[in-house]
Amino acid sequence: MEIESMVANSALIKAREGGGNKGRSLKWKEMLRFPHISRCMDLATNIERDYHSLCVKQPIGKKLFQLFCRSRPDLQNYISLQDALETFETKSDEERRDFGINIIQNLSTPFLLPERLQGIMSNLSISWIRDLHQYLSGKPFVEYQESMFFDRFLQWKMLERQPINKHAFRQYRLLGKGGFGEVWACQVRATGMMYACKKLEKTHIKKRRGETMALNEKQILGELDSRFVVNLAYAYETKHALCLVLTMMSGGDLRFHIYNIGPPGLDRDRVCFYAAEVCCGLIHLHQKSILYRDLKPENILLDDSGHIRISDLGLAIQLPDRGLVRGRVGTHGYMAPEVISHEFYGMSADWWGLGCLIYEMTAGRPPFKARGEHPSPSEMERRIHKQQEEYGDRFDQSLFPPLQLLNKDPNLRLGCLDRKGREVQSHPYFRKINFRMLEAGLVEPPFKPDPRQVYCSDVQDIDEFSTVKGVILDNIDTNFYSKFNTGSVPTSWQNEMIETGCFSELNVFGPFGSRPPDLDW
Ligand code: ADP
Ligand code: MG
Ligand code: MG
Repeated sequence: MEIESMVANSALIKAREGGGNKGRSLKWKEMLRFPHISRCMDLATNIERDYHSLCVKQPIGKKLFQLFCRSRPDLQNYISLQDALETFETKSDEERRDFGINIIQNLSTPFLLPERLQGIMSNLSISWIRDLHQYLSGKPFVEYQESMFFDRFLQWKMLERQPINKHAFRQYRLLGKGGFGEVWACQVRATGMMYACKKLEKTHIKKRRGETMALNEKQILGELDSRFVVNLAYAYETKHALCLVLTMMSGGDLRFHIYNIGPPGLDRDRVCFYAAEVCCGLIHLHQKSILYRDLKPENILLDDSGHIRISDLGLAIQLPDRGLVRGRVGTHGYMAPEVISHEFYGMSADWWGLGCLIYEMTAGRPPFKARGEHPSPSEMERRIHKQQEEYGDRFDQSLFPPLQLLNKDPNLRLGCLDRKGREVQSHPYFRKINFRMLEAGLVEPPFKPDPRQVYCSDVQDIDEFSTVKGVILDNIDTNFYSKFNTGSVPTSWQNEMIETGCFSELNVFGPFGSRPPDLDW
Protein backbone atom coordinates (compact mmCIF):
# COMPACT_ATOMS: atom_id res chain seq x y z
CA MET A 1 0.00 0.00 0.00
CA GLU A 2 1.28 3.44 -0.80
CA ILE A 3 2.14 5.97 1.85
CA GLU A 4 -0.65 8.32 0.74
CA SER A 5 -3.22 5.59 1.33
CA MET A 6 -1.80 4.66 4.70
CA VAL A 7 -1.95 8.26 5.88
CA ALA A 8 -5.53 8.67 4.62
CA ASN A 9 -6.60 5.41 6.29
CA SER A 10 -5.00 6.12 9.63
CA ALA A 11 -6.56 9.61 9.74
CA LEU A 12 -9.97 8.01 9.15
CA ILE A 13 -9.46 5.29 11.74
CA LYS A 14 -8.39 7.90 14.29
CA ALA A 15 -11.44 10.04 13.56
CA ARG A 16 -13.73 7.01 13.96
CA GLU A 17 -12.25 6.27 17.35
CA GLY A 18 -13.08 9.81 18.46
CA GLY A 19 -10.19 10.64 20.77
CA GLY A 20 -10.26 12.90 23.82
CA ASN A 21 -13.04 15.26 22.81
CA LYS A 22 -15.14 12.52 21.13
CA GLY A 23 -14.22 14.07 17.80
CA ARG A 24 -15.96 17.32 18.65
CA SER A 25 -14.49 20.70 17.87
CA LEU A 26 -13.17 22.68 20.85
CA LYS A 27 -15.92 25.22 20.15
CA TRP A 28 -18.73 22.67 20.03
CA LYS A 29 -20.74 24.26 22.84
CA GLU A 30 -20.73 27.61 21.05
CA MET A 31 -21.88 25.92 17.86
CA LEU A 32 -24.78 24.37 19.74
CA ARG A 33 -25.72 27.29 21.99
CA PHE A 34 -29.49 27.59 22.54
CA PRO A 35 -31.04 30.78 21.21
CA HIS A 36 -32.93 32.65 23.92
CA ILE A 37 -36.54 31.51 24.05
CA SER A 38 -37.74 34.97 22.95
CA ARG A 39 -36.14 34.22 19.57
CA CYS A 40 -38.20 31.04 19.09
CA MET A 41 -41.58 32.73 18.84
CA ASP A 42 -42.01 32.48 15.08
CA LEU A 43 -41.33 28.80 15.31
CA ALA A 44 -43.80 28.47 18.19
CA THR A 45 -46.55 30.00 16.05
CA ASN A 46 -45.77 28.00 12.93
CA ILE A 47 -44.89 24.55 14.18
CA GLU A 48 -47.61 21.99 13.61
CA ARG A 49 -49.10 20.99 16.97
CA ASP A 50 -49.35 17.32 16.16
CA TYR A 51 -48.92 14.95 19.10
CA HIS A 52 -47.57 12.05 17.06
CA SER A 53 -44.91 14.13 15.31
CA LEU A 54 -43.88 16.18 18.36
CA CYS A 55 -43.95 13.55 21.10
CA VAL A 56 -43.51 10.17 19.41
CA LYS A 57 -41.72 10.44 16.08
CA GLN A 58 -39.10 13.10 16.71
CA PRO A 59 -36.44 11.65 19.02
CA ILE A 60 -35.67 14.85 20.95
CA GLY A 61 -39.37 15.73 21.08
CA LYS A 62 -40.08 12.34 22.60
CA LYS A 63 -37.32 12.75 25.19
CA LEU A 64 -38.58 16.18 26.30
CA PHE A 65 -42.16 15.02 26.49
CA GLN A 66 -41.02 12.11 28.66
CA LEU A 67 -39.01 14.48 30.89
CA PHE A 68 -42.15 16.57 31.26
CA CYS A 69 -44.23 13.52 32.24
CA ARG A 70 -41.55 12.37 34.67
CA SER A 71 -41.68 15.78 36.38
CA ARG A 72 -45.39 15.19 37.07
CA PRO A 73 -46.24 12.58 39.74
CA ASP A 74 -49.63 11.88 38.10
CA LEU A 75 -48.03 11.07 34.73
CA GLN A 76 -44.93 9.12 35.74
CA ASN A 77 -46.59 5.73 35.49
CA TYR A 78 -47.53 6.28 31.87
CA ILE A 79 -43.95 6.85 30.90
CA SER A 80 -42.82 3.83 32.87
CA LEU A 81 -45.39 1.81 30.97
CA GLN A 82 -44.18 3.22 27.67
CA ASP A 83 -40.59 2.27 28.60
CA ALA A 84 -41.68 -1.19 29.67
CA LEU A 85 -43.58 -1.80 26.43
CA GLU A 86 -40.58 -0.70 24.42
CA THR A 87 -38.34 -3.07 26.38
CA PHE A 88 -40.94 -5.80 25.84
CA GLU A 89 -40.41 -5.39 22.10
CA THR A 90 -36.69 -6.07 22.54
CA LYS A 91 -37.19 -9.33 24.44
CA SER A 92 -36.58 -12.67 22.81
CA ASP A 93 -39.60 -14.92 22.29
CA GLU A 94 -38.74 -17.00 25.36
CA GLU A 95 -38.45 -14.02 27.69
CA ARG A 96 -41.56 -12.23 26.50
CA ARG A 97 -44.21 -14.07 28.52
CA ASP A 98 -42.63 -13.50 31.91
CA PHE A 99 -41.76 -9.94 31.10
CA GLY A 100 -45.33 -9.28 29.95
CA ILE A 101 -46.80 -10.68 33.16
CA ASN A 102 -44.37 -8.54 35.11
CA ILE A 103 -45.61 -5.39 33.36
CA ILE A 104 -49.20 -6.26 34.14
CA GLN A 105 -48.48 -6.88 37.80
CA ASN A 106 -46.32 -3.85 38.43
CA LEU A 107 -47.81 -1.00 36.50
CA SER A 108 -51.35 0.04 37.08
CA THR A 109 -52.85 2.86 35.08
CA PRO A 110 -56.55 3.55 34.57
CA PHE A 111 -56.78 1.87 31.18
CA LEU A 112 -55.08 -1.37 32.17
CA LEU A 113 -58.34 -3.25 32.61
CA PRO A 114 -58.36 -6.85 33.86
CA GLU A 115 -59.91 -8.14 30.64
CA ARG A 116 -56.77 -7.05 28.84
CA LEU A 117 -54.88 -9.64 30.85
CA GLN A 118 -56.52 -12.30 28.78
CA GLY A 119 -55.21 -10.75 25.57
CA ILE A 120 -52.65 -12.87 23.86
CA MET A 121 -49.11 -11.80 24.60
CA SER A 122 -48.30 -11.03 21.00
CA ASN A 123 -51.03 -8.42 20.95
CA LEU A 124 -50.06 -7.06 24.34
CA SER A 125 -48.14 -4.02 23.27
CA ILE A 126 -50.12 -3.04 20.20
CA SER A 127 -53.42 -2.23 21.88
CA TRP A 128 -51.77 -0.81 24.96
CA ILE A 129 -49.57 1.56 23.05
CA ARG A 130 -52.60 2.80 21.17
CA ASP A 131 -54.49 3.48 24.40
CA LEU A 132 -51.45 5.05 25.98
CA HIS A 133 -51.02 7.54 23.16
CA GLN A 134 -54.74 8.20 23.08
CA TYR A 135 -54.55 9.30 26.70
CA LEU A 136 -51.27 11.25 26.51
CA SER A 137 -52.34 13.15 23.40
CA GLY A 138 -55.20 14.72 25.36
CA LYS A 139 -54.71 16.92 28.41
CA PRO A 140 -51.07 15.94 29.08
CA PHE A 141 -50.08 17.10 25.58
CA VAL A 142 -51.85 20.44 26.11
CA GLU A 143 -50.08 20.94 29.42
CA TYR A 144 -46.73 19.93 27.94
CA GLN A 145 -46.96 22.77 25.44
CA GLU A 146 -47.23 25.23 28.32
CA SER A 147 -44.14 23.85 30.03
CA MET A 148 -40.46 24.77 29.88
CA PHE A 149 -39.82 21.34 28.35
CA PHE A 150 -41.65 22.35 25.19
CA ASP A 151 -39.80 25.69 25.17
CA ARG A 152 -36.57 23.74 25.27
CA PHE A 153 -37.82 21.61 22.38
CA LEU A 154 -38.30 24.80 20.36
CA GLN A 155 -34.72 25.79 21.12
CA TRP A 156 -33.46 22.44 19.83
CA LYS A 157 -35.57 22.89 16.70
CA MET A 158 -33.97 26.28 16.09
CA LEU A 159 -30.52 24.68 16.25
CA GLU A 160 -31.70 21.90 13.96
CA ARG A 161 -32.84 24.43 11.38
CA GLN A 162 -29.58 26.34 11.17
CA PRO A 163 -28.42 26.52 7.54
CA ILE A 164 -25.77 23.94 6.65
CA ASN A 165 -22.67 24.43 4.56
CA LYS A 166 -19.36 22.65 4.07
CA HIS A 167 -17.84 24.29 7.16
CA ALA A 168 -20.06 22.14 9.37
CA PHE A 169 -17.89 19.12 8.43
CA ARG A 170 -14.32 17.87 8.48
CA GLN A 171 -13.45 15.75 5.47
CA TYR A 172 -11.47 12.49 5.50
CA ARG A 173 -10.62 9.99 2.81
CA LEU A 174 -12.36 9.15 -0.43
CA LEU A 175 -14.58 6.06 -0.01
CA GLY A 176 -15.90 5.42 -3.45
CA LYS A 177 -16.97 6.76 -6.78
CA GLY A 178 -20.40 6.95 -8.32
CA GLY A 179 -22.02 8.13 -11.50
CA PHE A 180 -22.22 11.83 -10.59
CA GLY A 181 -19.37 12.25 -8.17
CA GLU A 182 -17.39 10.96 -5.25
CA VAL A 183 -18.26 9.70 -1.79
CA TRP A 184 -16.10 10.96 1.08
CA ALA A 185 -15.90 10.16 4.78
CA CYS A 186 -16.74 13.21 6.88
CA GLN A 187 -17.36 14.22 10.48
CA VAL A 188 -19.67 16.84 11.97
CA ARG A 189 -17.47 19.35 13.83
CA ALA A 190 -20.04 20.12 16.51
CA THR A 191 -20.86 16.55 17.53
CA GLY A 192 -18.06 14.30 16.23
CA MET A 193 -20.56 12.14 14.31
CA MET A 194 -19.12 10.32 11.28
CA TYR A 195 -21.03 10.29 7.98
CA ALA A 196 -20.46 9.57 4.32
CA CYS A 197 -20.90 12.55 2.01
CA LYS A 198 -22.10 11.70 -1.49
CA LYS A 199 -21.25 14.59 -3.78
CA LEU A 200 -23.15 15.12 -7.00
CA GLU A 201 -21.15 17.44 -9.25
CA LYS A 202 -23.33 20.28 -10.55
CA THR A 203 -21.76 20.26 -14.01
CA HIS A 204 -22.21 16.49 -14.33
CA ILE A 205 -25.84 16.71 -13.28
CA LYS A 206 -26.53 19.40 -15.83
CA LYS A 207 -24.69 17.73 -18.68
CA ARG A 208 -26.45 14.42 -18.15
CA ARG A 209 -29.81 15.95 -17.15
CA GLY A 210 -29.69 14.33 -13.76
CA GLU A 211 -31.74 17.02 -11.97
CA THR A 212 -34.89 14.97 -11.45
CA MET A 213 -32.81 11.98 -10.44
CA ALA A 214 -30.82 13.92 -7.84
CA LEU A 215 -33.92 15.49 -6.35
CA ASN A 216 -35.71 12.16 -6.43
CA GLU A 217 -32.90 10.41 -4.54
CA LYS A 218 -32.83 13.14 -1.92
CA GLN A 219 -36.61 13.22 -1.51
CA ILE A 220 -37.04 9.46 -1.17
CA LEU A 221 -34.13 9.13 1.27
CA GLY A 222 -35.59 11.92 3.40
CA GLU A 223 -38.92 10.13 3.74
CA LEU A 224 -37.52 6.78 4.83
CA ASP A 225 -36.67 5.64 8.30
CA SER A 226 -35.48 2.05 8.37
CA ARG A 227 -32.51 0.30 9.93
CA PHE A 228 -32.07 -1.49 6.59
CA VAL A 229 -31.77 1.60 4.39
CA VAL A 230 -29.12 4.34 4.74
CA ASN A 231 -30.46 7.45 6.41
CA LEU A 232 -30.12 10.93 5.03
CA ALA A 233 -28.84 13.35 7.68
CA TYR A 234 -28.20 16.56 5.69
CA ALA A 235 -28.65 17.86 2.16
CA TYR A 236 -26.64 20.97 1.28
CA GLU A 237 -24.77 22.58 -1.59
CA THR A 238 -21.28 23.87 -2.22
CA LYS A 239 -20.13 25.97 -5.13
CA HIS A 240 -19.53 22.88 -7.25
CA ALA A 241 -21.64 20.09 -5.82
CA LEU A 242 -24.88 18.98 -4.24
CA CYS A 243 -24.16 16.89 -1.17
CA LEU A 244 -26.08 14.08 0.48
CA VAL A 245 -24.79 13.31 3.95
CA LEU A 246 -25.59 9.67 4.72
CA THR A 247 -25.17 7.06 7.44
CA MET A 248 -21.51 6.10 7.55
CA MET A 249 -21.11 2.48 6.51
CA SER A 250 -17.60 1.61 7.68
CA GLY A 251 -17.75 -2.05 6.71
CA GLY A 252 -17.62 -1.37 2.95
CA ASP A 253 -19.89 -2.67 0.21
CA LEU A 254 -20.76 -6.33 -0.45
CA ARG A 255 -18.87 -6.32 -3.73
CA PHE A 256 -15.68 -5.72 -1.78
CA HIS A 257 -16.51 -8.57 0.63
CA ILE A 258 -17.46 -11.03 -2.10
CA TYR A 259 -14.39 -10.43 -4.30
CA ASN A 260 -11.61 -8.68 -2.41
CA ILE A 261 -11.25 -10.78 0.75
CA GLY A 262 -10.21 -14.41 0.22
CA PRO A 263 -11.71 -16.59 -2.55
CA PRO A 264 -14.85 -15.10 -4.18
CA GLY A 265 -18.14 -15.71 -2.36
CA LEU A 266 -19.34 -15.72 1.23
CA ASP A 267 -20.24 -18.58 3.54
CA ARG A 268 -23.86 -19.73 3.80
CA ASP A 269 -24.70 -18.14 7.14
CA ARG A 270 -23.51 -14.75 6.02
CA VAL A 271 -25.38 -14.98 2.71
CA CYS A 272 -28.59 -15.92 4.49
CA PHE A 273 -28.21 -13.14 7.08
CA TYR A 274 -27.51 -10.40 4.50
CA ALA A 275 -30.31 -11.69 2.27
CA ALA A 276 -32.73 -11.58 5.22
CA GLU A 277 -31.79 -7.99 6.07
CA VAL A 278 -32.05 -6.89 2.44
CA CYS A 279 -35.45 -8.59 2.35
CA CYS A 280 -36.60 -6.48 5.34
CA GLY A 281 -35.28 -3.35 3.62
CA LEU A 282 -37.18 -4.17 0.43
CA ILE A 283 -40.39 -4.82 2.33
CA HIS A 284 -40.01 -1.43 4.04
CA LEU A 285 -39.54 0.30 0.67
CA HIS A 286 -42.40 -1.60 -0.95
CA GLN A 287 -44.75 -0.75 1.91
CA LYS A 288 -44.15 2.88 0.98
CA SER A 289 -44.77 2.01 -2.69
CA ILE A 290 -41.11 2.56 -3.50
CA LEU A 291 -39.51 0.28 -6.07
CA TYR A 292 -35.71 0.19 -5.64
CA ARG A 293 -34.49 -1.11 -9.02
CA ASP A 294 -30.74 -1.15 -8.38
CA LEU A 295 -30.04 -4.20 -6.27
CA LYS A 296 -26.44 -5.37 -6.69
CA PRO A 297 -23.54 -6.06 -4.32
CA GLU A 298 -21.92 -2.62 -4.54
CA ASN A 299 -25.11 -0.93 -3.37
CA ILE A 300 -25.44 -3.01 -0.20
CA LEU A 301 -23.21 -1.61 2.54
CA LEU A 302 -22.01 -2.94 5.90
CA ASP A 303 -21.86 -0.86 9.07
CA ASP A 304 -19.26 -1.24 11.80
CA SER A 305 -21.24 -3.92 13.61
CA GLY A 306 -21.83 -6.01 10.47
CA HIS A 307 -25.46 -5.13 9.69
CA ILE A 308 -26.27 -4.12 6.13
CA ARG A 309 -28.19 -1.21 4.68
CA ILE A 310 -29.49 -0.68 1.18
CA SER A 311 -27.95 2.47 -0.31
CA ASP A 312 -27.99 4.43 -3.57
CA LEU A 313 -31.63 5.27 -4.19
CA GLY A 314 -30.91 7.15 -7.40
CA LEU A 315 -33.06 4.78 -9.48
CA ALA A 316 -35.80 4.25 -6.91
CA ILE A 317 -39.28 5.33 -7.89
CA GLN A 318 -42.50 5.96 -6.05
CA LEU A 319 -45.26 4.01 -7.77
CA PRO A 320 -48.86 5.17 -7.81
CA ASP A 321 -51.20 2.96 -5.79
CA ARG A 322 -50.99 -0.55 -7.22
CA GLY A 323 -49.38 1.05 -10.25
CA LEU A 324 -46.74 -0.26 -12.58
CA VAL A 325 -43.90 1.36 -14.49
CA ARG A 326 -42.06 0.74 -17.69
CA GLY A 327 -38.47 1.55 -18.54
CA ARG A 328 -35.16 -0.23 -18.86
CA VAL A 329 -33.73 1.06 -15.62
CA GLY A 330 -31.07 -0.62 -13.52
CA THR A 331 -27.56 -1.98 -14.01
CA HIS A 332 -26.64 -4.26 -16.92
CA GLY A 333 -26.69 -7.90 -15.92
CA TYR A 334 -28.93 -7.31 -12.93
CA MET A 335 -32.16 -6.24 -14.65
CA ALA A 336 -35.13 -8.61 -14.53
CA PRO A 337 -36.46 -10.13 -17.79
CA GLU A 338 -39.62 -8.01 -17.67
CA VAL A 339 -37.53 -4.85 -17.22
CA ILE A 340 -35.31 -5.64 -20.19
CA SER A 341 -38.20 -6.39 -22.50
CA HIS A 342 -40.02 -3.09 -21.97
CA GLU A 343 -43.02 -4.56 -20.21
CA PHE A 344 -44.84 -2.90 -17.36
CA TYR A 345 -43.49 -4.09 -14.03
CA GLY A 346 -43.89 -3.54 -10.29
CA MET A 347 -42.13 -4.84 -7.20
CA SER A 348 -41.23 -8.07 -9.04
CA ALA A 349 -38.07 -6.37 -10.35
CA ASP A 350 -36.63 -6.09 -6.82
CA TRP A 351 -37.32 -9.73 -5.95
CA TRP A 352 -35.41 -10.76 -9.04
CA GLY A 353 -32.63 -8.48 -7.76
CA LEU A 354 -32.60 -10.31 -4.43
CA GLY A 355 -32.33 -13.60 -6.32
CA CYS A 356 -29.28 -12.30 -8.21
CA LEU A 357 -27.73 -11.07 -4.99
CA ILE A 358 -28.15 -14.38 -3.15
CA TYR A 359 -26.75 -16.15 -6.16
CA GLU A 360 -23.70 -13.88 -6.46
CA MET A 361 -22.91 -13.95 -2.74
CA THR A 362 -23.04 -17.74 -2.74
CA ALA A 363 -21.32 -18.57 -6.03
CA GLY A 364 -18.86 -15.67 -6.10
CA ARG A 365 -20.17 -14.69 -9.54
CA PRO A 366 -23.47 -13.34 -10.92
CA PRO A 367 -26.01 -15.94 -12.19
CA PHE A 368 -25.53 -15.48 -15.92
CA LYS A 369 -21.84 -14.80 -16.27
CA ALA A 370 -18.73 -16.90 -15.69
CA ARG A 371 -15.85 -15.45 -13.66
CA GLY A 372 -13.76 -13.09 -15.78
CA GLU A 373 -16.16 -13.33 -18.71
CA HIS A 374 -17.48 -10.15 -20.38
CA PRO A 375 -20.45 -11.05 -22.58
CA SER A 376 -21.91 -8.37 -24.83
CA PRO A 377 -25.09 -6.65 -23.59
CA SER A 378 -27.25 -8.48 -26.14
CA GLU A 379 -25.78 -11.84 -25.12
CA MET A 380 -26.47 -10.99 -21.46
CA GLU A 381 -30.08 -10.23 -22.34
CA ARG A 382 -30.44 -13.47 -24.22
CA ARG A 383 -29.19 -15.42 -21.21
CA ILE A 384 -31.42 -13.56 -18.77
CA HIS A 385 -34.44 -14.42 -20.94
CA LYS A 386 -33.53 -17.96 -21.93
CA GLN A 387 -30.83 -19.52 -19.81
CA GLN A 388 -31.61 -21.61 -16.75
CA GLU A 389 -29.06 -20.62 -14.09
CA GLU A 390 -27.02 -23.44 -12.54
CA TYR A 391 -26.82 -24.27 -8.88
CA GLY A 392 -23.47 -25.83 -8.06
CA ASP A 393 -22.15 -27.44 -4.90
CA ARG A 394 -22.12 -24.26 -2.90
CA PHE A 395 -25.92 -24.12 -2.98
CA ASP A 396 -27.97 -26.21 -0.59
CA GLN A 397 -29.57 -28.60 -3.09
CA SER A 398 -32.74 -29.00 -1.06
CA LEU A 399 -33.45 -25.25 -1.26
CA PHE A 400 -32.34 -24.30 -4.76
CA PRO A 401 -34.00 -23.90 -7.22
CA PRO A 402 -37.20 -23.96 -5.07
CA LEU A 403 -36.15 -20.47 -3.95
CA GLN A 404 -38.09 -19.09 -6.89
CA LEU A 405 -36.65 -15.58 -6.93
CA LEU A 406 -35.08 -16.00 -10.34
CA ASN A 407 -38.25 -17.27 -11.97
CA LYS A 408 -38.41 -15.57 -15.36
CA ASP A 409 -42.16 -15.16 -15.08
CA PRO A 410 -42.87 -12.33 -12.61
CA ASN A 411 -46.30 -13.82 -11.87
CA LEU A 412 -44.74 -17.01 -10.54
CA ARG A 413 -41.76 -15.40 -8.82
CA LEU A 414 -41.45 -15.62 -5.05
CA GLY A 415 -42.26 -12.24 -3.49
CA CYS A 416 -44.78 -11.36 -6.18
CA LEU A 417 -47.62 -13.44 -4.83
CA ASP A 418 -50.15 -11.66 -2.68
CA ARG A 419 -48.36 -11.34 0.65
CA LYS A 420 -46.22 -8.34 -0.22
CA GLY A 421 -42.91 -10.10 0.25
CA ARG A 422 -43.78 -11.83 3.52
CA GLU A 423 -43.81 -15.15 1.65
CA VAL A 424 -40.11 -14.64 1.00
CA GLN A 425 -39.49 -14.41 4.73
CA SER A 426 -41.42 -17.59 5.40
CA HIS A 427 -39.53 -19.58 2.75
CA PRO A 428 -37.54 -22.53 4.22
CA TYR A 429 -34.35 -20.84 3.05
CA PHE A 430 -34.83 -18.38 5.94
CA ARG A 431 -35.94 -20.98 8.50
CA LYS A 432 -33.11 -20.07 10.89
CA ILE A 433 -33.94 -16.36 10.88
CA ASN A 434 -36.25 -14.85 13.50
CA PHE A 435 -37.57 -11.89 11.53
CA ARG A 436 -39.18 -10.13 14.50
CA MET A 437 -35.83 -10.06 16.28
CA LEU A 438 -34.02 -9.16 13.08
CA GLU A 439 -36.32 -6.21 12.42
CA ALA A 440 -35.75 -5.00 15.98
CA GLY A 441 -31.98 -5.11 15.42
CA LEU A 442 -31.51 -7.86 18.00
CA VAL A 443 -29.76 -10.49 15.92
CA GLU A 444 -25.97 -10.63 16.20
CA PRO A 445 -24.37 -10.43 12.72
CA PRO A 446 -22.28 -13.49 11.71
CA PHE A 447 -19.33 -11.28 10.75
CA LYS A 448 -18.08 -8.14 12.48
CA PRO A 449 -15.80 -5.80 10.50
CA ASP A 450 -12.42 -5.11 12.10
CA PRO A 451 -12.52 -1.52 13.45
CA ARG A 452 -8.84 -1.07 12.53
CA GLN A 453 -9.39 -1.92 8.88
CA VAL A 454 -10.68 0.26 6.04
CA TYR A 455 -12.94 -1.79 3.78
CA CYS A 456 -12.50 -0.08 0.46
CA SER A 457 -9.98 0.17 -2.35
CA ASP A 458 -6.86 2.24 -1.73
CA VAL A 459 -7.41 5.91 -2.50
CA GLN A 460 -5.11 5.95 -5.50
CA ASP A 461 -6.93 2.93 -7.00
CA ILE A 462 -10.24 4.77 -7.14
CA ASP A 463 -10.23 6.57 -10.49
CA GLU A 464 -10.17 10.30 -10.30
CA PHE A 465 -13.49 11.89 -11.09
CA SER A 466 -13.38 13.55 -14.48
CA THR A 467 -14.29 17.21 -14.88
CA VAL A 468 -16.88 18.42 -17.34
CA LYS A 469 -16.01 21.47 -19.42
CA GLY A 470 -18.22 24.00 -21.18
CA VAL A 471 -21.28 23.70 -18.95
CA ILE A 472 -22.59 27.03 -17.66
CA LEU A 473 -24.80 27.14 -14.60
CA ASP A 474 -27.68 29.65 -14.69
CA ASN A 475 -30.76 30.84 -12.76
CA ILE A 476 -32.85 27.79 -13.54
CA ASP A 477 -30.11 25.67 -12.01
CA THR A 478 -29.98 27.89 -8.94
CA ASN A 479 -33.71 27.39 -8.47
CA PHE A 480 -33.27 23.63 -8.60
CA TYR A 481 -30.35 23.76 -6.14
CA SER A 482 -32.48 25.59 -3.61
CA LYS A 483 -35.02 22.75 -3.71
CA PHE A 484 -32.23 20.34 -2.93
CA ASN A 485 -30.52 22.41 -0.25
CA THR A 486 -32.86 21.67 2.67
CA GLY A 487 -30.28 21.27 5.46
CA SER A 488 -30.77 18.85 8.35
CA VAL A 489 -33.28 16.02 8.26
CA PRO A 490 -35.09 16.29 11.63
CA THR A 491 -35.11 12.66 12.77
CA SER A 492 -31.47 12.03 11.80
CA TRP A 493 -30.25 15.30 13.31
CA GLN A 494 -32.02 14.62 16.59
CA ASN A 495 -30.66 11.07 16.70
CA GLU A 496 -27.18 12.47 16.09
CA MET A 497 -27.54 14.77 19.11
CA ILE A 498 -28.70 11.89 21.29
CA GLU A 499 -26.21 9.26 20.09
CA THR A 500 -23.17 11.53 20.43
CA GLY A 501 -24.17 12.52 23.97
CA CYS A 502 -24.54 16.19 23.01
CA PHE A 503 -28.21 16.08 23.95
CA SER A 504 -27.67 14.91 27.50
CA GLU A 505 -24.71 17.24 28.06
CA LEU A 506 -26.55 20.34 26.86
CA ASN A 507 -30.12 19.64 27.89
CA VAL A 508 -29.78 20.88 31.48
CA PHE A 509 -32.30 22.89 33.43
CA GLY A 510 -31.96 25.14 36.48
CA PRO A 511 -31.58 23.88 40.09
CA PHE A 512 -34.60 21.97 41.47
CA GLY A 513 -36.20 21.82 38.03
CA SER A 514 -36.38 25.60 37.62
CA ARG A 515 -36.12 27.51 34.36
CA PRO A 516 -32.51 28.24 33.31
CA PRO A 517 -31.62 31.78 32.05
CA ASP A 518 -32.04 30.92 28.37
CA LEU A 519 -35.64 29.92 29.04
CA ASP A 520 -36.39 32.80 31.41
CA TRP A 521 -38.67 35.53 30.16
P1 ADP B 1 -23.89 5.94 -7.43
O1 ADP B 1 -25.31 6.33 -7.29
O2 ADP B 1 -23.21 6.93 -8.31
O3 ADP B 1 -23.70 4.51 -7.84
P2 ADP B 1 -23.36 5.22 -4.70
O4 ADP B 1 -24.34 5.86 -3.79
O5 ADP B 1 -23.64 3.80 -5.04
O6 ADP B 1 -23.19 6.12 -6.01
O7 ADP B 1 -21.90 5.34 -4.08
C1 ADP B 1 -20.75 4.86 -4.76
C2 ADP B 1 -19.85 4.04 -3.83
O8 ADP B 1 -19.45 4.84 -2.69
C3 ADP B 1 -20.53 2.81 -3.19
O9 ADP B 1 -20.46 1.68 -4.02
C4 ADP B 1 -19.76 2.64 -1.88
O10 ADP B 1 -18.56 1.92 -2.08
C5 ADP B 1 -19.41 4.07 -1.50
N1 ADP B 1 -20.44 4.58 -0.55
C6 ADP B 1 -21.63 5.10 -0.89
N2 ADP B 1 -22.36 5.42 0.20
C7 ADP B 1 -21.61 5.10 1.28
C8 ADP B 1 -21.82 5.17 2.71
N3 ADP B 1 -22.97 5.66 3.23
N4 ADP B 1 -20.84 4.74 3.52
C9 ADP B 1 -19.69 4.23 3.00
N5 ADP B 1 -19.44 4.12 1.67
C10 ADP B 1 -20.38 4.55 0.80
MG1 MG C 1 -24.16 2.71 -6.75
MG1 MG D 1 -27.10 5.84 -8.04
